[in-house]
Amino acid sequence: MKNLLVATHNLHKKEEIQQILGKDFLVKSLSDFDLHDEIIEDGLTFEANAQIKAQYCFEKTGIPSIGDDSGLVIEALDGRPGIFSARYAGNHNFEKNISKVLGEMENVENRKAYFITVLCLFDENGAQFFEGTVHGNILTENKGHQGFGYDPIFVPEGHEITFAEMQPEEKNKISHRKKAFDKFLKVIAE
Ligand code: IMP
Repeated sequence: MKNLLVATHNLHKKEEIQQILGKDFLVKSLSDFDLHDEIIEDGLTFEANAQIKAQYCFEKTGIPSIGDDSGLVIEALDGRPGIFSARYAGNHNFEKNISKVLGEMENVENRKAYFITVLCLFDENGAQFFEGTVHGNILTENKGHQGFGYDPIFVPEGHEITFAEMQPEEKNKISHRKKAFDKFLKVIAE
């Protein structure tokens, strides 16, 4: 079993990643190492922020570490909220963030958007990146109560319902995060 440190304090994220990776990996989080420094994510890209998190963890512990950075990229908003997805209107305030996006998209016809996850694996060989995306459309109002973040306004391509109307297992089969981890697993298995 391989130890893998994920650069998060979020136990929900840790469990989700453990579930995706299965029993060949033992996923640990920052809390398992008493690492409480605030990691400043001041990169200008998803890649840069993912690496900042992963490299910090590897340098502190010597354990192969994963940083993940995700967000929603909306075509008509020139890619916003993008790397600012978590704090677009209010820090981790999903309601305010959605309201801001819907306000900016009032009367906008082009509703195309995608979610992206960039993973950075940092170990003794340096940084390696894995990316997953899921394309879809932004609604004009919230639908559904599952999930988190922008899930209630995002309908993935080929589906009629939002991520927030899907059961978690259904979302996790097609999500940007799942696709990025699948690529990671494929490379690790080689
Ligand atoms: P993180 O980098 O995974 O913490 O994601 C940053 C922000 O992007 C989150 O706070 C959400 O606002 C948004 N986001 C990322 N992934 C998702 C998702 O699967 N559904 C909805 N929003 C997401």
